Amino acid sequence: MSTATAPLPAGPATGAPGPVLLLDGVVREYPGTPAVRALAGVSLQIEAGEHVAIVGRSGSGKSTLMHLAGALDTPTAGRVLVAGHDLSQLSDRERSALRATTIGFVFQQFFLAPHRTATDNVADGLLYAGVPRRTRTAHAIDALVRVGLGHRLDHRPSELSGGERQRVAVARAIVGDPSVLLADEPTGNLDRASGEATMDLLDDLNAGGTTVIIVTHDRDLASRLPRQIEISDGLIVRDERTR
Ligand code: ADP
Ligand code: MG
Repeated sequence: MSTATAPLPAGPATGAPGPVLLLDGVVREYPGTPAVRALAGVSLQIEAGEHVAIVGRSGSGKSTLMHLAGALDTPTAGRVLVAGHDLSQLSDRERSALRATTIGFVFQQFFLAPHRTATDNVADGLLYAGVPRRTRTAHAIDALVRVGLGHRLDHRPSELSGGERQRVAVARAIVGDPSVLLADEPTGNLDRASGEATMDLLDDLNAGGTTVIIVTHDRDLASRLPRQIEISDGLIVRDERTR
């Protein structure tokens, strides 16, 4: 079976004007008794090149929002458009294609394969984009150099510090040159210095043109970003541009 993803249906060309992310009246309920309404009607728009912090208490709906923005999930009601594509109009394969070509995801828990080198972990980020193996390795090395890990290419996760592991995860997220980078509590498992270094790295990537959306419960870190969106009980309660 080929790992190549389905082509996306005709949509706005890459780099076309229009928001990178648009949520319109989005509700996400998780089934159960009673059902959990994780998002209760969220509308927001994020333009290409923005650098946004999403803040809010644990359980407020931040990860649910990120999963929707990352085309990992679909809403119960309302519309989510990622790079102009309406998620509910896409098949599962088309959503995978959108993820592979447009979105990079960084998680709090890194999710690196323990027995694979940094290079292989990053190269795996291109598996679903249908890139041949040799090219994957070359791109992986480039991405590791970009995050400052050119001297750790053959190290396995156990041979790296927490901050370095998160850099490998960031390299994996950017290796496909995504237009949006989503980071869900990327500093949550890091000490202060490594957390700040990770934020600086995301800042550099944003300066290079990538739209960056970061979930954090660290208000100090969030306050450094030009736009902050606060979520409480599944609703946006603040959306502020400080720069
Ligand atoms: P946050 O990331 O802000 O901590 P989440 O988006 O993870 O919040 O969760 C929002 C709410 O939805 C919480 O009440 C959580 O318990 C619930 N929730 C999250 N994921 C699921 C799931 N897969 N099934 C059921 N409930 C869930
Ligand atoms: Mg969360």
